[in-house]
Amino acid sequence: MFDQVTSNQLWNGLPLGCFVLDENGKIVSCNTRMCEILTVTHAEMLGLAFSKLLTPAGRLFYLTHVLPQLQQGALVEEVYLTLAGEQGDSLPVLLCATVFAEANNVYYLCTVMPMHQRNQIEEQLVDLNQRLQHLATTDPLTGLANRRALEEKVNAILKSAKHEQVSIAYVSLDLDYFKSINDTYGHGIGDDVLKEVARVLRATVRDTDFVARSGGEEFTLLLAGINQRTLLFCAERFRSAIEQIKTFQFGITASLGATLVEEDDTLLAIMARADKALYDAKDSGRNCICVREKHFDTKSDCSE
Ligand code: GH3
Ligand code: MG
Ligand code: MG
Repeated sequence: MFDQVTSNQLWNGLPLGCFVLDENGKIVSCNTRMCEILTVTHAEMLGLAFSKLLTPAGRLFYLTHVLPQLQQGALVEEVYLTLAGEQGDSLPVLLCATVFAEANNVYYLCTVMPMHQRNQIEEQLVDLNQRLQHLATTDPLTGLANRRALEEKVNAILKSAKHEQVSIAYVSLDLDYFKSINDTYGHGIGDDVLKEVARVLRATVRDTDFVARSGGEEFTLLLAGINQRTLLFCAERFRSAIEQIKTFQFGITASLGATLVEEDDTLLAIMARADKALYDAKDSGRNCICVREKHFDTKSDCSE
């Protein structure tokens, strides 16, 4: 019968590690399950400071947060701590604790629930999140950053630009007559061209630059440390690198539209300027670079 279960049977039969701490955090009682969890004897547990059973990080948190909370009489719920095993192994547990008084003494009644699978699940989650992040920000054909990653990058630059001086160029690069490559040699060769262009762009950018496939046969470069004077010269490296691709039986060229990221710029304004500059380059006969500046929003410079 249930009502015949003694408090001692209940204490030791609970499927949770239970123990009682005195005001100083020393163990004055613990149940059988707690000894099993830690593979120690009852006698070894008594008189031990609970903090000694924790990993260094867990100990710090327990001493600075959990114990002071209990000492103020507050209930402690769902605290994730890690017990340090005898053999250097560690066991994550969930701790709950409450305060009770008996014969003018204050005690803390604590329970711990082992969470054997938590580390494993957490690692799987971190791994899945990283894969998800990669999938969400990478173009599968070329392995370059995709448009979403590009927009995130530009927004981050604009945010930091409010605090520090930046000199970044945004360059749109669109392959010329790409449709006719597809039409003449097939979509598969078209894909190979995109991959080769991506490889060449990646090889041409510096570590501080950023390259993305922003659309079908359009790529975007973010070039750091660029000013009005050096913009054309730097963009030219990319135009010429593409013109020099000799992998195919036909030549490849690209048109480039460049603009500088200015103070108080917005993502949309930057993209619109680079787009206009790109149209200028297409209108000027392709295989060239045009620049649009924020303060003079007219076609300002084209170079072959
Ligand atoms: P322009 O010189 O004016 O840029 O002409 P274009 O032919 O390069 O431009 P258009 O916009 O007419 O054609 C772009 C083509 O790119 C059409 C589309 O089918 C092709 N395309 C887009 N994405 C891919 C892709 O992933 N693989 C392949 N093979 N082709 C693609
Ligand atoms: Mg094109
Ligand atoms: Mg295009």
